[in-house]
Amino acid sequence: TTDPKGQAAMGLAVKAADRAHVFHSWSAQSLIDPLAIAGAGGSYFWDYDDKRYLDFSSQLVNTNIGHQHPKVVAAIQEQAAKLCTIAPGFAVDVRSVAARLIAELAPGDLNKVFFTNGGAEAVENAVRMARLHTGRHKVFAAYRSYHGATSAAINLTGDPRRWPSDNGSAGVVHFWGPHLYRSNFHATTEAEECERALAHLEQTIAYEGPQSVAAIILETVVGTAGVLVPPPGYLEGVRAICDKYGIVFILDEVMAGFGRTGRWFAADNWGVVPDLMTFAKGVNSGYVPLGGVIISERIAETFATRPYPGGLTYSGHPLACASAVATINAMRDEGIVENAAEIGETVLGPGLRELAERHPCVGEVRGLGAFWALDLVKDRETREPLVPYNASGADNRSMADLAAACKQRGLWPFVNMNRLHVVPPCTVTEAEAKEGLAILDEALSVADAHCA
Ligand code: PLP
Repeated sequence: TTDPKGQAAMGLAVKAADRAHVFHSWSAQSLIDPLAIAGAGGSYFWDYDDKRYLDFSSQLVNTNIGHQHPKVVAAIQEQAAKLCTIAPGFAVDVRSVAARLIAELAPGDLNKVFFTNGGAEAVENAVRMARLHTGRHKVFAAYRSYHGATSAAINLTGDPRRWPSDNGSAGVVHFWGPHLYRSNFHATTEAEECERALAHLEQTIAYEGPQSVAAIILETVVGTAGVLVPPPGYLEGVRAICDKYGIVFILDEVMAGFGRTGRWFAADNWGVVPDLMTFAKGVNSGYVPLGGVIISERIAETFATRPYPGGLTYSGHPLACASAVATINAMRDEGIVENAAEIGETVLGPGLRELAERHPCVGEVRGLGAFWALDLVKDRETREPLVPYNASGADNRSMADLAAACKQRGLWPFVNMNRLHVVPPCTVTEAEAKEGLAILDEALSVADAHCA
């Protein structure tokens, strides 16, 4: 910049106004120190001191196409000049095209799209559709999951954030999914873990009464709770259980969808077709808030003559839909989904496994595509997590130090509990991925100092 002093002053003014008036999510307001951001492009964003950060978080794992993609920015500008807003009840070209593109990409008979403004609302509506379709009330959700922060979504969520927010919505039943590294089933192989997790699920359904269960909701690949890739046969097994008892199978692809796993939808990795699929984030990289539910023909039929009781003022917002159309087209034209698959297989996966060999704090490396996590431990033998679950303050020192070491070296990490998630944009280049891995190599030494 031409005027570094003026820039820095602007940064301080942004920060001061933020601290005075912005109430931040998931935070104790006086304990946070948000970084003031001046701009972003591709895999980077920067502050008012011109310090650049390689975005290995994709913000909240949503900028799959990177920051400020010119085709998406232009599409939003063009749509704004044409038609900024219109109620959901009208047919408009940009909404029809967005729905058609999404339905064409979605597997099986998922063919109708109900638009929302984000992921949690998509989950709310998927659950409502399942309850109305089946006439049943209970919904099964997994521990180690995140489904959003609105009422039904936070109640379905299976991580410790649920407890303080829980407003006790009736009919939510939690169960354990497969996770061999921290097995709840004393399993020693993936096959054993899968078989026992399915047996546990079916037994829980039997005790709850299958005729009372409307839906099972799962993240196809669990995201925030640790990038847990299901073992072969698990999703197929859940599909079979749902078919056996007439239960609606909801896959939550808010984080895993739209390229993150190296496929358009994570379900494509296993060829599994749910009855309802939620999406948000990557659909338009969050350039304008957008999410939705992709609905099977069978469930859509329930609402052919009976009204669906749900809708939002901004459902299918033209600016959001324009950015989704441009995002999907750019992802297709530029091979961005293929890039995520390739970078995962050739750079991120091998690179992270190499880091695990050198750093005793890394207990397990998990992931695929541009979707990875390092499970950090105090002791590789006992697998004791580097920090206790839900750690805060002094208990969280080692993770806080690790995050600070990354930021100091110009890498913005995604840290959750005892895990470092590696989730760059799906557009990340080989050189950027290697730059990030080199920074992680240095920063992980900070965490090594905290383990046995
Ligand atoms: N579902 C999953 C799997 C998510 O990862 C998230 C957000 O991280 C949500 C739902 C909630 O999405 P939103 O924050 O857009 O409401």
